[in-house]
Amino acid sequence: MKKSLPTVVIIGRPNVGKSLLFNRLIGKRQSLVHDAPGMTLDFIEAELELDSTHRLQLIDTGGVFGEQDQWTPYVREKMEYACRHADYILLVTDASQGKISGDTDLALWLRSTLQKNWALVVNKSEGFDETTALSDFLSIGCDDMFAVSAKHGMGFRELKKHLQKSTAHLLTLSDSIETDLTSVAIVGRPNVGKSSLINRLLRTPRMVVSKHPGTTRDSVSSLLDNGQHTIKLIDTAGMKRRVATSEWEKLAVVASRRSLRVADCAILVVDAEQGVTHQDKRIAHLIDEAGCALVIIANKTDLLPANRRFATKQKIINDIGCNFKVECLMLSATIKSGFPYRRLLASVQASGTSANCHFGTPQLNRILQQAIESNPPKHVGKYRPKLRFVHQIGESPIRLLIYGNSTEKVTAPYRRYLMNYFGQTLSIIGAPIRLSFKTDNNPYV
Ligand code: GDP
Repeated sequence: MKKSLPTVVIIGRPNVGKSLLFNRLIGKRQSLVHDAPGMTLDFIEAELELDSTHRLQLIDTGGVFGEQDQWTPYVREKMEYACRHADYILLVTDASQGKISGDTDLALWLRSTLQKNWALVVNKSEGFDETTALSDFLSIGCDDMFAVSAKHGMGFRELKKHLQKSTAHLLTLSDSIETDLTSVAIVGRPNVGKSSLINRLLRTPRMVVSKHPGTTRDSVSSLLDNGQHTIKLIDTAGMKRRVATSEWEKLAVVASRRSLRVADCAILVVDAEQGVTHQDKRIAHLIDEAGCALVIIANKTDLLPANRRFATKQKIINDIGCNFKVECLMLSATIKSGFPYRRLLASVQASGTSANCHFGTPQLNRILQQAIESNPPKHVGKYRPKLRFVHQIGESPIRLLIYGNSTEKVTAPYRRYLMNYFGQTLSIIGAPIRLSFKTDNNPYV
């Protein structure tokens, strides 16, 4: 149900000017123009608005093929992952250095292994005429080459026009792939049992499993159908483990963020025996940021004594700390008998449906008045917020806009109270509610 923007990924050796190029394209100083190890290890992403109807997701990756250091495998893995999921790639090189083997190797990898559409961007071209800047890179054999200077803003009109042309077909495609199916991302720390869970789901004889052709971005999704519910499992191919555990933890966060962007619902897998860790909370925070519905799975319950199960479940729900009511299923992915297939699919479907509900304005206003009567907002200084009118401005996540006076004085606890009140009264399970406030009169009177 959620639509994703076409994704353009920027890659290249360190210091060719990727971050500056990224900033110049989006028109803000959002990327870190810094190449110290550790500074650019996470993807830096921003929306690039080419015109009022054409937006792209632009991703800046760390530099690859630099001097080998402890981060090299991590950065390389991350770059490959981004490229595998990209719709279009910009390979950036440096006109002042000319072509070097790192550039050729990346071009070869793009062409032979990845087989995706890409363009060559020759940066730092100030001081050269276009033909001279590009001539050194002709032997790379790329049809789409651009001489630019990120520092001086040269050559960007042509580059943006090219991006517009090369991704236009994806806009139509992303409109047509919109579907009523709930898209689900299975996320969690390494070793909590995500792959085991996916394998259990994909191998069950009671489930019809089919690859979903979709777009390049959805190429690894599977449809799961048990006769009653159908869901789309995204990103089931995952990533191969090739780096040390500490780096793998970071990659897991990057991978989660990526799949959450296109998911309606997240299944957050936690290890029931270990309980909720800092990293689990971090991933839960990403789910919240992405506005996805949520089902928690406490896996490896076979390792728990039976008398600890109930308390463990409650503790996991509390420790994850959602602002809304959420289901937590206790299970063992490696044990076939008693695996709650039906319940799992039903919970996912229910959360996805909850997130997409649209509520009538009269109903919402009745609930707002009841919430205020039971617990009015407190004075802050000499002002007391007066909340008059609410209506829904979005789904998945559900967004409510409340109009009134002194709404900037609504405290964080009162905001949480209202979110819980709406969630409970509307019987929403597993879906976040976003509240925003506007100091204004009822726009409809
Ligand atoms: P992932 O990194 O989250 O995908 O985790 P895996 O699915 O690779 O599982 C990590 C380890 O936990 C493997 O050794 C699994 O066999 C084990 N494991 C997964 N699920 C269960 C479970 O329900 N019970 C037990 N006892 N072990 C499990």
